[in-house]
Amino acid sequence: MSPTTDRTIDFTTGAPVAGSLDVAWVHGAAGEPNLQVHHYDEHTVILRQSKRVTYEAPFLFLLFGEERALLLDTGATEDAELFPLRATVDRLIDQWLERHPREGYGLVVAHTHGHGDHVAADAQFADRPQTAVVAREPEAVRDFFGFGDGWPTGAVTFDLGGRVLDILGSPGHHAAAITCYDPWTGILFTGDTVYPGRLYAFDFPAFRATLDRLVAFAETNPVTHVLGCHVEMKRRRRRDYPIGATYQPAEHRLELTSADLAAVRDAAHAVAGRKGIHRYDNFVIFNEPGKADQLRLLARGRLHQALAKLTRRN
Ligand SMILES: [Zn+2]
Repeated sequence: MSPTTDRTIDFTTGAPVAGSLDVAWVHGAAGEPNLQVHHYDEHTVILRQSKRVTYEAPFLFLLFGEERALLLDTGATEDAELFPLRATVDRLIDQWLERHPREGYGLVVAHTHGHGDHVAADAQFADRPQTAVVAREPEAVRDFFGFGDGWPTGAVTFDLGGRVLDILGSPGHHAAAITCYDPWTGILFTGDTVYPGRLYAFDFPAFRATLDRLVAFAETNPVTHVLGCHVEMKRRRRRDYPIGATYQPAEHRLELTSADLAAVRDAAHAVAGRKGIHRYDNFVIFNEPGKADQLRLLARGRLHQALAKLTRRN
């Protein structure tokens, strides 16, 4: 064994540790990769499906523990040619195991929630050895993590081997939504419940109650960053890109703070009685978006796409 390898990794001393979010996600450039990979630290990887493959450009996360890794979400595209998630994750795990050799290392594939842009490449992992893929349905999530009667508003822990995550049921955007807290990095992974973009609260009372619980959690646990699964806002306050945008040169950073989380909570309380679209500095809340809201959003996106096509032709 080389001196750089180890058998035990200390995931508690000094936690939460600092990592790097110094990354410029590529879109609209020649040579844009289909899947982009950024190491936050030695044991934590942020992946992003590129805009050229899907305008959703969801973020995915790979967390390594001593005994298994957790892949949080599988993106918006099933096709392994177009979106080589399995091959990329296998390579990342192989690289990690070279530095931290151990036998029988496992992989758990789970999801921040069950929407199509977060589960599409699940099948790429179906035949992978030592791998559990958690189905997208709420009951499957409840049973896998062992929520029992605590579902969907309770919290459980999930041990990757020395790296023990908190998993918080987080209904509102989706019935199977969870939030993961990683004490090692202090990152709160909020899925599509909180991110710099359009927050669709399909079940508004549940969404608001989830935010109350997340803010309470962040008040008693050190949260370094709040990482959701998309970026739709511009750096300019209160402005979002149209739905379907595949080029976001001035997009907001992925990371939000616990102050932002509290701002989403406060906003959710402020607009509770008002269905519709409510715009804030770093996010937009859709309170039970109606047909008209959704059509307006789509129309803006169509117009944007038509204009983009015209510009490309000239
Ligand atoms: Zn999404």
